[in-house]
Amino acid sequence: MRDYIVRAIAAGGSVRAFAATTKGMVETARGLHGTTPVATAALGRLLTAASMMGATLKNDTDLLTLTIRGDGPIGGIVATTDCKSRVRGYVFQPQFELLLNESGKLDVGGAVGAGTLTVSKDLGLKEPVSGQVALVSGEIAEDITYYFAASEQLPSSVGLGVMVDTDCTVKQAGGYIIQLMPDAKEEVIAHLESKLPKLPAVTTLLEEGKSPEDILGIIFGAQDVAVHEKIYPEYFCSCSVEKTRKALSNVEPNELKSILEEDKGATIHCHFCNKDYRFGEDDIRQIIIANGGKA
Ligand code: ZN
Repeated sequence: MRDYIVRAIAAGGSVRAFAATTKGMVETARGLHGTTPVATAALGRLLTAASMMGATLKNDTDLLTLTIRGDGPIGGIVATTDCKSRVRGYVFQPQFELLLNESGKLDVGGAVGAGTLTVSKDLGLKEPVSGQVALVSGEIAEDITYYFAASEQLPSSVGLGVMVDTDCTVKQAGGYIIQLMPDAKEEVIAHLESKLPKLPAVTTLLEEGKSPEDILGIIFGAQDVAVHEKIYPEYFCSCSVEKTRKALSNVEPNELKSILEEDKGATIHCHFCNKDYRFGEDDIRQIIIANGGKA
């Protein structure tokens, strides 16, 4: 099944909901970064959250970045998305092993440790808009739930999951975000409060063959749900030789000279797709001259 996100409203428009299946993009991320299972799960959960949050961006140039920094072995995780839910991301440390947690699951909370979650939105204004919260558990879904409540005053429930197969590839990945608008009625809130804690893991539902629409149906039960949009997220790195050259041309003239004289060129690494861009002596000379300097 191709990855997709459904965007819906429920309970007469008083609840906003997203549900997603994201196995393809998480498997692409795993292939690019060579992550071990627990790192795949951590990165996949953050990428899945980012892809659903991307659907709330309005303009083509808007970007949303989720950054987790923790004192666990993974060090940190970054995921970004645009308004088309094209995501990319990386983890600081892709290869480490951890024992399963007490529930026999990949120990994402143990991999992340204690730290912070920062959500930064670049909406084309002078400065990006950002909010930061302390991590609740490092399990990511709970941390994002807390971010919505504390930073955006948006009562939410977030579920995220990545199931890794015995051969370390991604078997299932997906998630949901349910958000209460200010006009949500008590009975709707009560229904969700009783339903959500009993909901099986998203990956269990996906493994049973349930679709994102089915998952929303299970969550809302008799409440009305209207799917407004189907979005096809993908793992997409926007890096290019031109963009990398532009970044290099912003380096201080003196530093460019020392790159030329001492290093005889520069290799720029893209963390998001692990591509290396090599600029030789001639390239650096051209950049220095283009910037009005002498090489
Ligand atoms: Zn790249």
